[in-house]
Amino acid sequence: MAQNNDTFRDFGLDTRLVRALDHQGLETPTEIQLKAIPVVLAGHDLLASSKTGSGKTLAYLLPALQRLMKSRALSKRDPRALILAPTRELARQVYVQLRSLAGSSFNIALLLGGENFNDQLKSLRRQPDVIVATPGRLANHLDTRSLMLNGLELLILDEADRMLDLGFAPQLERIHRAADHRRRQTLMFSATLDHAEANTMAATLLKSPKRVAVGEAHAEHQDIEQRFVLGDHLDHKQALLEHLLANESYQQAIIFTATRADTERLAGHLQQQGLATAALHGDMSQAERNRIMDAFARGQHKVLITTDVASRGLDLLQVSLVINFDMPKQPEEYVHRIGRTGRAGASGTAVSLVGPRDWDAFKRVEKFLQRAVSFTEIEGLPGKFKGLRPPARKHGFKGKPGDKPGTVQGKSHKPGAKKPGRKPAPKRPKGFTGQGLGPAAGAGDDGMAPLKRKKPKPEQE
Ligand code: ADP
Ligand code: MG
Repeated sequence: MAQNNDTFRDFGLDTRLVRALDHQGLETPTEIQLKAIPVVLAGHDLLASSKTGSGKTLAYLLPALQRLMKSRALSKRDPRALILAPTRELARQVYVQLRSLAGSSFNIALLLGGENFNDQLKSLRRQPDVIVATPGRLANHLDTRSLMLNGLELLILDEADRMLDLGFAPQLERIHRAADHRRRQTLMFSATLDHAEANTMAATLLKSPKRVAVGEAHAEHQDIEQRFVLGDHLDHKQALLEHLLANESYQQAIIFTATRADTERLAGHLQQQGLATAALHGDMSQAERNRIMDAFARGQHKVLITTDVASRGLDLLQVSLVINFDMPKQPEEYVHRIGRTGRAGASGTAVSLVGPRDWDAFKRVEKFLQRAVSFTEIEGLPGKFKGLRPPARKHGFKGKPGDKPGTVQGKSHKPGAKKPGRKPAPKRPKGFTGQGLGPAAGAGDDGMAPLKRKKPKPEQE
C-alpha cells in the first residue's frame, strides 16, 4: 500500500488521470485517498468513511476511472458506472469533478430529478459510459425501461446514509436488483456511516466489503471552531444572527434553517439590511436552484440561507462560517452542515443557535459528539432560555466525570470583537494530507446505539 509521503503517481494510475490531477495542482493524496484507492483498485467492495472535506470524491472517482480505462466493458449498450448522490447540487458537483478528470475519455450523463425527462432520454440514447444521478430519477428511468443496468461494473453511493434518510431505500434496492450480478463492484462513502439502516443497506448492496474508516464521525473536526448559543425565540435568534453576521469575519456564510419558508423570510430580511443574501430550498425550480448555487459559488452572494438540501457534500471553498439558525433533526446532519466549512485543510467557524424547540435536537447532537457542550453568550443579547432539563446552569450543563472537554467551554463572545487569526481564502494547501484527524484514525464503528429516524419528505426526486 502507498505510504504517506507518496504521490498520486504511486497508485499506478493512467497517465490521463495523473495529468488531470497535475493540472488541478493535486499531488499528495489525503489519508482516505491513500487508504481507499488501493482497495478499490484491487476490486473489492468498500464501505468508506472520513470527515467532511477530506477528499472522498477523488477517493472513489480516481480508482473508478482507472478501472474503466483498464478493463473492457461488460456491455456495449449499458452504462459501466453509476454514481448516486442524495441531492441534485451534490450530483452536479460530482459530475463536474468527474468531467474534469475524465476529459474526453468517456461519455458521461447527469440525470437529476426536476429536470426535463425527454432531454434525459436523449442523453441516454447516446449510451453514456458513466451516469451521475439522484436515486429517484434514476429509478424512474429504470421503470420506463429507458435504461438497463445489466452491464453495470461499478455502483457508487456518495452520502448513502442521507439517501436512506430521505426515504430512497426502495429506489436503491430497485437499482441494485437491476444490476445484480457477480462482477459488479459497489462502493459506499460518507462522513457518517454508522447507523443501523446504512449497515443494513450495505449488507444488501455490498459483497464481502472492506471497511476503511479514517477517524470517527463524532470526532472533533480540528479545522472547525464550534460554538453554541442559547436563543429564546424567533426574534431573539434573529438578533443573534444579525449580530453574528455583523461581527464574525467570514468570506461567505451558509445559514441552515428548519423550514423552507424560513429560508425565504430570513433572506428577505437580510437583503433589506443590505447583505447580499440568497435562499435555496427544495420548493424552487431546478433552474432557479442551479442559478443560485452558481451565483453563490462565484461569490455573488455573501450569505446563503438553506435547508438540509445543502447540508451534504457541497464543496464551496469560500465558506468560512456556518450558522445553524435551527438545530438539525438528525445529529448526523449537524456534522455535515458544519462540514461545509473547514474543507481541505482550511479553517472555519460553526455557530449553532439553540432555542426551546431545538432542545431535543441539541441533546441528540451532544450525544452524537460524545462530549458535554457548553454555551457561549453574546454580550448585549442575553437570553432567558437556559435549557430544558436538568435545571438551568449559567454555563450550560456539565458532562459526566471523564467526559472529554469540548472546545467551547464557557467562552464569552463580545460584540464587535472580531476573531483574530481567522485564516482567509482557503487557498489549496500544497501537500494537504487530510491529517489532524485525531488519534482515532483507522477506527471503525463507534458503538453508539442506532438512531430511530423519522422519514422526512424527500427533498429530491
Ligand atoms: P469530502 O467528500 O470528503 O467532503 P471533497 O471530495 O468534496 O471532500 O473534497 C474537499 C476538497 O478537498 C475539494 O475542494 C477537493 O478539491 C480538495 N481535495 C481533494 N483531494 C485533495 C488532495 N489530495 N489534495 C488537496 N486538495 C484535495
Ligand atoms: Mg463528499
